[in-house]
Amino acid sequence: DRLISAKAGEYEEVHDRAIRPTLLSEYVGQPTVREQMEIFISAARGRQEALDHVLIFGPPGLGKTTLANIIANEMGVSIKTTSGPVLEKAGDLAAMLTNLEEGDVLFIDEIHRLSAAVEEVLYPAMEDYQLDIMIGEGPAARSIKLDLPPFTLVGATTRAGLLTSPLRDRFGIVQRLEFYNTQDLTHIILRSARLSSVTIDEQGAFEIARRSRGTPRIANRLLRRVRDFAEVRSDGHITADIADQALNMLKVDDQGFDHMDRRLLLAMIEKFDGGPVGVESLAAAISEERGTIEDVLEPFLIQQGFMVRTPRGRMVTSSAYRHFGVVAPKTGAE
Ligand code: ADP
Repeated sequence: DRLISAKAGEYEEVHDRAIRPTLLSEYVGQPTVREQMEIFISAARGRQEALDHVLIFGPPGLGKTTLANIIANEMGVSIKTTSGPVLEKAGDLAAMLTNLEEGDVLFIDEIHRLSAAVEEVLYPAMEDYQLDIMIGEGPAARSIKLDLPPFTLVGATTRAGLLTSPLRDRFGIVQRLEFYNTQDLTHIILRSARLSSVTIDEQGAFEIARRSRGTPRIANRLLRRVRDFAEVRSDGHITADIADQALNMLKVDDQGFDHMDRRLLLAMIEKFDGGPVGVESLAAAISEERGTIEDVLEPFLIQQGFMVRTPRGRMVTSSAYRHFGVVAPKTGAE
């Protein structure tokens, strides 16, 4: 598995329970999101109403699932979790909806992957708390309508542009998660270390934070790998020097790039003269899925200024040439 892939593994899920924040006050960083959610949640609680539907978007590993769980916890309600690809038929969604209690949160991850038939059922449910569904087929088919208790739909997606506009328009609250700065990631690493009895000093946490691609999930994952290194090669205590040695061994470079990031940027430089190159050609060149490039790899590289998206395709910037010590041709993008 890719060390910095932003997807969680099964083992990781188990490990994560101990360190996942459960309250807004423990949710590090994202000050705008936190401030707004604090107000919306306390207003809804004051009126004893279900919170308005919330759409959360941002690259994988930035805390969408965590935030959905915090919302339910802060509202004092239960959360039922599912995802776009799991809800294959309208009936699958109907089963989830009819299981909700008043005020509950229904969390749909990867909500951009809902089928059109399932989305149709979601519209009246979101708008009027009405379930409107056809059961049976042919002459025996009939439509049933049911009242649902007021509930809060929390949808998560990696990119807002993937959502159909009728669905997007039905969310009263839209939150966009940003990549975390090094200071916030340092804070997250120190917190996780404390909760899992790892000894680390602030400089050690900073070194890991700086190389975590702005992503809490990666920060926590690197912390676990650096801990292994510290226990075997040293006395278990994580210092900046130990963190640096461990991350070098793991081939996470000074910018936090791993081999996939480097392959992507180098392919653009070496095979496409720095671009512009279409995402499909790029995907073929590095044998990676287009979705992985768009969701996992490029958002961070773009945010860090190593590549840009232009109407003609992706291009590397002069920072990318500098990073690899390659002289940029005169026509490269800035
Ligand atoms: P996503 O759903 O966006 O892929 P998750 O919510 O699963 O991401 O977050 C990944 C992990 O990172 C979580 O398990 C949690 O431990 C940690 N994490 C995410 N956001 C924060 C945060 N704001 N503060 C502290 N830890 C966080």
